[in-house]
Amino acid sequence: MDIRMGDILNMKKTHPCGNGKFLVLRVGMDIRLKCLGCGRMLLLPRMKIEKHICSIIREEEI
Ligand SMILES: [Zn+2]
Repeated sequence: MDIRMGDILNMKKTHPCGNGKFLVLRVGMDIRLKCLGCGRMLLLPRMKIEKHICSIIREEEI
């Protein structure tokens, strides 16, 4: 799955704050996400994130 910095991930599983959208801050073995609801940072293994992604929102570069 193609996950890039700056993408917004629409997750099937929501954060405890009720939000389901997360901004990608860093991509590697682990992916650093920022919850767009409460602003908290999360660091999760890529495989775990990929399983829960519903869709990827990307503002295409011109
Ligand atoms: Zn949150």
